[in-house]
This record gives sequence, structure tokens and C-alpha cells, in this order.
Amino acid sequence: MSDETKKIAKVTVDRNLCIGAASCVMAEGDVFELDAENKAVLKLKGGAKNSGPAERSALEGGADDKILLAAQSCPTKAIFLHAEDGTQVYP
Ligand code: SF4
Repeated sequence: MSDETKKIAKVTVDRNLCIGAASCVMAEGDVFELDAENKAVLKLKGGAKNSGPAERSALEGGADDKILLAAQSCPTKAIFLHAEDGTQVYP
């Protein structure tokens, strides 16, 4: 069950679910971007980019409320957020 009040500790994009709608990029462009395959990737510290799973602390930047908004805006619910204790924050 989702608990959106929990702090985000891990972000993952399910590339099989992602359809490249880019709503996440609109919501939080500091974290999400589309790659050459039109799949969402995470901007990581040091310039690396992949679909995760990535620790929240490994992300280049971004704001938790906007990351949650990005996940909520995804039409296929392809963005998974987890808390420190492993519980799913979203979806
Ligand atoms: S909003 Fe969802 S489907 Fe669209 S690019 Fe982001 S992860 Fe992919």
C-alpha cells in the first residue's frame, strides 16, 4: 500500500511501463529526462543517467514533492518510489 507521507529514499523507472509521455520531465526536469529510446532516465550525480533503482541521495538534485508529483503524473505509473524502510511510497 502506498504511503505518500513517507520520505523518498529510492527512485526507479520501470522501462517496460514507460511510454515516453514525458509528464515526469514536465513535473521535475531536474530529476527526469528522456533517453534516446524515449524512456525516462534519472539524472545522477557525476552526470550518469539511468532508470535506476537509484538512491535519492545519488540524484543530482530535485525536490521530493516534485518527484512525487512526477510519479503521480505518469500515465502508466512507471515511476516507483520507496522509503528508507523499503515500503513503497508510490504508486
Ligand atoms: S511520465 Fe511515465 S511514461 Fe512518461 S516518460 Fe515519465 S516515466 Fe515514462
